[in-house]
Amino acid sequence: MKLHEYQARDILERYGLPVTGGGVASTPEEARRIAEQIGGRVVIKAQVQVGGRGKAGGVKLADTPAQAEEVARQILGMDIKGLTVEKVLVAEAIDYEKELYLSAILDRGSKRIVLIASAEGGVEIEEVAKTNPQAIKKIAADPMLGLLDFQARELAFAIGLNDAKQARQFAAIASGIYRIFVENDASLVEINPLVIRKDGSLQALDSKILLDDSGLFRHPDLAALRDTAGEPEAELRAREADLTFIKLDGDIGCMVNGAGLAMATMDVIKLFGGEPANFLDIGGGANAQKVAAALNIILSDPNVKAVLINIFGGITRGDEVARGIVAALEQVERRVPMVVRLVGTNAEEGARILADAQLIPAASLAEAAQKVVEVARAA
Ligand code: GDP
Ligand code: MN
Repeated sequence: MKLHEYQARDILERYGLPVTGGGVASTPEEARRIAEQIGGRVVIKAQVQVGGRGKAGGVKLADTPAQAEEVARQILGMDIKGLTVEKVLVAEAIDYEKELYLSAILDRGSKRIVLIASAEGGVEIEEVAKTNPQAIKKIAADPMLGLLDFQARELAFAIGLNDAKQARQFAAIASGIYRIFVENDASLVEINPLVIRKDGSLQALDSKILLDDSGLFRHPDLAALRDTAGEPEAELRAREADLTFIKLDGDIGCMVNGAGLAMATMDVIKLFGGEPANFLDIGGGANAQKVAAALNIILSDPNVKAVLINIFGGITRGDEVARGIVAALEQVERRVPMVVRLVGTNAEEGARILADAQLIPAASLAEAAQKVVEVARAA
């Protein structure tokens, strides 16, 4: 789950990191009032969950409150990469000498939280990685000991912050984002740019936080911050139905119980020359209602030419799934060929329920995959 900049900013502030003062506004008048409170030059920033807002015209400076109102009027309602700007952050504008980059991410390779820093901030880090990879410095935190102070200082020196005081402040910011990462179950905490001011002090001008969806149940306050504007409609509906769904580019819809089986099903479809349209795990013990929701989500994708339902009944009962499929078929408009493989708990009863549903039965996963690839091709 992505947070907005103003939400990430609030978290950084709570952890004592140097963010700029200001507030969030939904109207030009509100933006003016915040600018009046700040009392100097301000920066007005579109709050949409995409990068490169600066280049798209969504970050602008204003010298006076009247100008702030004017600029906010331009930015509010603007379309940036398909998203409408509903809110702007009005923050004190900062003069700076240099832009740096700093983030904490989970590195799957080393299975550690890694801190990444670069003296080339302000641009997207992927860009730096392409054009000047040596400018990116990394340090891995120890899973038991965390990020140690000397490590953070070494990272500072590695990006050219040789002044002891500056390196100390950098180390404090680095350990702050590390703590934010761990304590909030984040998957990314990024400050870009982290700037060096004229007096040598560091200041965070823009921050981004991604949260691990699987950890959100531990943070109801953070879960409540979700903005669904940038999410694909199908993924949103899947989350509401408590299904794990990821849209893919192929034409064979998949409905499977269990993440491992769902992965295997996609592999076998590919083995027989097909392309899955989605990953969908209906989970253990799924009831008829959930199955119906899943099928509706799959069929809402216009690319889907055929569906493979692969159920291994354990906790999930075959008859329940079958009832769900029948219920779903009553609701859905679109009809595409569907291949069903149903084994395990109550599979025979499930097969009886499905007998009249005009589905294509398959005894094994290989047979099911072969059949679904065939009917998708013919469609
Ligand atoms: P992004 O383009 O979506 O990453 O948005 P950022 O918040 O990073 O803003 C883009 C650029 O706007 C930054 O790299 C800065 O150059 C500039 N910027 C943002 N805030 C300020 C500020 O307070 N003062 C000044 N002078 N420039 C700013
Ligand atoms: Mn930025």
